[in-house]
Amino acid sequence: MCYKQNLQLHNEYGATPKLRAAQEPKQRKNKKPIALMSFQLVKFQPLLFFKENLLLLLHYSHIHLRISTTNKDFARNVTKSAHAIRMNVEKLYDTIIVGSGPAGFTAAIYTSRAKLKTIVVAGTQWGGQLMLTTEVENFPGFKEGILGPDLMDNMWKQAKRFGAEMIFEDATAVDFSSKPFKVTVGSKVFEGKSVIIATGASAKWLGLESEKRLRGKGVSVCATCDAAFFKDKKVTVVGGGDTAMEEALALSKFAREVKVIHRRDTLRASEILQERVFNDPKIEFIWNSTVQEILGKDRVEGVRLRKVDSNEEFELACDAVFIAIGWKPETEIFKGQIETDQAGYIVAKDTTKTNVEGVFVAGDAQDYRYRQAVTAAGAGCMAALDVEKYLEEA
Ligand code: NAP
Repeated sequence: MCYKQNLQLHNEYGATPKLRAAQEPKQRKNKKPIALMSFQLVKFQPLLFFKENLLLLLHYSHIHLRISTTNKDFARNVTKSAHAIRMNVEKLYDTIIVGSGPAGFTAAIYTSRAKLKTIVVAGTQWGGQLMLTTEVENFPGFKEGILGPDLMDNMWKQAKRFGAEMIFEDATAVDFSSKPFKVTVGSKVFEGKSVIIATGASAKWLGLESEKRLRGKGVSVCATCDAAFFKDKKVTVVGGGDTAMEEALALSKFAREVKVIHRRDTLRASEILQERVFNDPKIEFIWNSTVQEILGKDRVEGVRLRKVDSNEEFELACDAVFIAIGWKPETEIFKGQIETDQAGYIVAKDTTKTNVEGVFVAGDAQDYRYRQAVTAAGAGCMAALDVEKYLEEA
């Protein structure tokens, strides 16, 4: 049954004369009507059950339900269901894609091109990690490189061209306990015969109180977004992986000096990025050190560091701290609905399948090893093909 928006729910006590006539006098005496629901049906299907003295009246395309019962549990359930309907159940989709990075958009390109009715719940911060990147040099097909946001914009437009719908809001809940699957977005509920989870991962933080307090006041996880604010300033980057090196390189184009603070004496970053940072005269390293506190009242003024080997503490003046210590999967809303590992990554079996039949996963929400735009896009493609096969066989 497809419900259109604009459900009205009235809690009305007392029955109309017509309804009263339809009830057995004895029953009517004992049972009090508890609710009147009125909603518009796009396609009418007969109500499946007439239970607990439930009466149905049809007025054009509107249906009014008047329920009288002495059963309190039933009454409670009816009210609950009515509220669920009130949340505006939208159309049924062949697939709902949650997430809009390279995995989600690639999946959308494939499913919509295969004429599967597709919606992408893209999120308010759509586009994923590449929206926070400048030049992407390793995505095949762009010999001069492409800006991350431009790449994502192209993917979105490509999926749209084949008819994929997008909603630029965050999914707030999912229900995979029965089919069709449900994805709630604020007050709307989308139903899907299948779901592709492509929610990606988000930046990890050090967990310091001062880091939280000074976020946006010199503490950042995105050099691409914020580097320009620190022209000719002293900045620090925390971390020793590829992300940290990329942040340092992006910052060196603006800042006067860039100091990378790393807790060990060797980098995890790839050789090519290491070579670039070591050759950049503005970038220096502070090895074997951890950040104990970010200093400053209303804006970053420095960091208090501790040497890992000697526990010696010292301060370093700086105007910004860029945290680049990795990412965590964005899988909170799927907890309890789908199998995840200890770190929260969704467990995939047979490439993109999750433990719930009909729910698939692609990209960094599952992949903590490769985490590349191109591998996420590839996984999105695989998930889309798996959805196609699943729907054919269902
Ligand atoms: P990562 O490789 O996990 O590196 C995280 C870094 O932060 C490590 O050096 C780690 O130190 C340090 N770290 C972690 N927790 C810390 C803490 N609490 N305090 C201080 N330091 C901490 O993460 P990533 O750099 O974000 O890279 C993730 C993946 O994406 C990698 O596979 C990477 O190759 C890929 N990536 C690729 C590119 C590219 O190809 N252009 C760009 C970005 C990312 P330890 O080394 O001591 O563990």
